[in-house]
Amino acid sequence: MSVRVKPAAEHALRGGHPWVFEESIVKQSHLGSAGDLAVIYDRDKNNFLAVGLYDPLSPIRIKVLQARKPRKINRQFFIDKLVAAQKKRDPLISQGTTGYRLVYGESDGFPALVLDRYGNTLVLKLYTTAWLAHLQELVAALQEALVFDALVLRLSRALQSDRLNVASLYGLRDGQQLLGEASGTAQFVEGGLLFAADVRRGHKTGFFFDQRENRQRVRGLAEGRRVLDVFSYTGGFSVYALAGGARSVTALDISQPALEALKNNVALNGFEQTRVDLLPADAFAGLRGLVEARRKFGLVVVDPPAFANRRANMGNAVLAYRRLVELALPLLSDDGILVMSSCSSRISCERFEQLVTRAAAVAGQELEVFASPTHGLDHPIGFPEAAYLKALFCRLSGNRK
Ligand code: SAH
Repeated sequence: MSVRVKPAAEHALRGGHPWVFEESIVKQSHLGSAGDLAVIYDRDKNNFLAVGLYDPLSPIRIKVLQARKPRKINRQFFIDKLVAAQKKRDPLISQGTTGYRLVYGESDGFPALVLDRYGNTLVLKLYTTAWLAHLQELVAALQEALVFDALVLRLSRALQSDRLNVASLYGLRDGQQLLGEASGTAQFVEGGLLFAADVRRGHKTGFFFDQRENRQRVRGLAEGRRVLDVFSYTGGFSVYALAGGARSVTALDISQPALEALKNNVALNGFEQTRVDLLPADAFAGLRGLVEARRKFGLVVVDPPAFANRRANMGNAVLAYRRLVELALPLLSDDGILVMSSCSSRISCERFEQLVTRAAAVAGQELEVFASPTHGLDHPIGFPEAAYLKALFCRLSGNRK
């Protein structure tokens, strides 16, 4: 299908932005269905601007695959992009890491799609129905471009909804094994540490590779400290803290299966379970309990799920972050370190830092941010919206009450 868009959208496309919103489209040759290739021409000279996936169910109506220079979208196109993406990640291997994000959506040329590598298992996660028509071609490209034994498909929550009927229309379901032998858990190494992830049912694709650099920093800070890992999930931060010589680790998460997996990850690395205390509870209630028991920790990591990915949730998200800071502060020992993280795409880095330091100020404490690392090399930020992860490493400064 051919499409014309408003001048502002033309400008954005020329600048390399990968999204065309519904309201930017002024003319299209026909109605179009999910996954059709939409070619956008400029309105003055009728020159090629970009080609992308048409996505009638999304306000991001066209998701750009290729801009500026025309290219045929076929298996070879996907292969070239995959080879480039793998090459970008190769430095990780020398850091003792075999689990990482191999394709990070738009930033690697695959809009609304991620591909994670867990050693020899690949996990493909789709966020739009527009990919379904291209899945076969994509899988063939994966087989040609990459080395792996198994491929698992994950579907976003929207794609799992009955309304879209992905299961009956395409015979696809979340957690389906597309290639290779089914096992469900995939082992991988990160920073020289061993982990196992439930790639069929775990959050996202099974593990949070985006926190790798922050975990590494936690490892460097953990020596001799009592560590509290809030929203621990399967223990990414906990295992790194143990590797860094933490005296003990208390892991707090509402999910019992996540804590079981955490225990397994501790065992995989040969750390004593006696150094680990599992606390299955709601984080807010669990933190309150620890405050009431006057517990103290030298390092507290708070890595909640995204509270705000829609504008409507912003107010509640801000309140939740504030409350978490308020609850974490009294748990810090005098030389304590607080790591506050947010993966809410709607909250900017500056806003998050202001929110955290002000929440502390209101509680009569001064927090000094001494590091705030950003995305790792497997989460390249190809356009502004791709940046979502924030982590503030803070210590108490000034007078304590
Ligand atoms: N820090 C983890 C990732 C955290 S993901 C890592 O590095 O791997 C978010 C986690 O928050 C999930 O494990 C989920 O079970 C947990 N969670 C969600 N709501 C919660 C709540 N109210 N209280 C405690 N844990 C919660």
